[in-house]
Amino acid sequence: MIYTIENDKLLIKVASLGATLVSFIDKESNKDIVLGFENENDYLNNRGPYFGTTIARYANRIGNGTFCLNGATYHTPINNNGNTLHGGEGLSFKEFELKDKNSSSVTFVINSLDGEDGFPGNLKLYVKYELNDNCLFISYKAICDKDSVLNITNHSYFNLNGVASNALDQELKIFTDEVALLDENGMSKEETIDVNGTSYDFIDYRLISENIKLNHNNLSGGGIDHNFVFESLNPKQLVSLRNDQFELNVYSDLPDCQIYTGNFLGDLIGKNNQKYHNYYGVAIEPQYYPNAINYDKYIKPIIKANEEVTHFIKYELNGRDK
Ligand code: BGC
Repeated sequence: MIYTIENDKLLIKVASLGATLVSFIDKESNKDIVLGFENENDYLNNRGPYFGTTIARYANRIGNGTFCLNGATYHTPINNNGNTLHGGEGLSFKEFELKDKNSSSVTFVINSLDGEDGFPGNLKLYVKYELNDNCLFISYKAICDKDSVLNITNHSYFNLNGVASNALDQELKIFTDEVALLDENGMSKEETIDVNGTSYDFIDYRLISENIKLNHNNLSGGGIDHNFVFESLNPKQLVSLRNDQFELNVYSDLPDCQIYTGNFLGDLIGKNNQKYHNYYGVAIEPQYYPNAINYDKYIKPIIKANEEVTHFIKYELNGRDK
């Protein structure tokens, strides 16, 4: 089921399947700035890109699909070059239950059972989408009956052009100078570098295509698929994306942010029969450092038994004076 929420400025469509953001529309220009499919069947038949889905229980990768917690070892499904990506089967293509809907918000809930995809504990996860003026808030609330891991994100791909087109012609600004290096399997190593002078230097607004041309040898699929390191649980601005018409600011209390330039999208038919290809959207994914549960250096995505965990992602869409 797909639900619509709108105010004076924005209209969003959200599917109960995966509590997925299907459309994010600026009403004045009628431009839809996220990639997505027409209906839930298309989401089920094209899972690879995770267009707009809620990712849980574990966004990004778990090395070798193995982690230890409280002395016990857990195994999660291997689905990406020897690692677990996005929690294995995950919650992205599960049906969430509608909990509440009013004129400004829609809230979903899902129960993930103890042992599902190998994760310990019965987890209850609420996902709320709320509009306020020119902002979309996604808030997450979770509770688990055992100590477990939880790395949530939303996997929306943005293209401010509002039509299927190369998204690398957008300008990006990222509010950190530290980025994770990838191994040959696309997995973030524990090691990070200073972005200065590399393809990942978005300290000031840079055209994404220009930075990619620098062709830093750690690129993945000819683009960016990297975790930018903030390591802070405080609310903060992570990223700003802009073109001539719009500026999108992204804020979160999640510690880091994966930026993925759609390097492996392939050829897909999206909403309104639009044809999507590689690099047609930029995924902005606030999250914990990939594989943090197995690294010593980073904040670990641990949820303690019976202690509520909350997180948020806020998207602010501004028009730009021409
Ligand atoms: C990952 C990519 C992956 C994409 C779609 C991103 O979060 O970092 O490697 O291809 O999701 O599954």
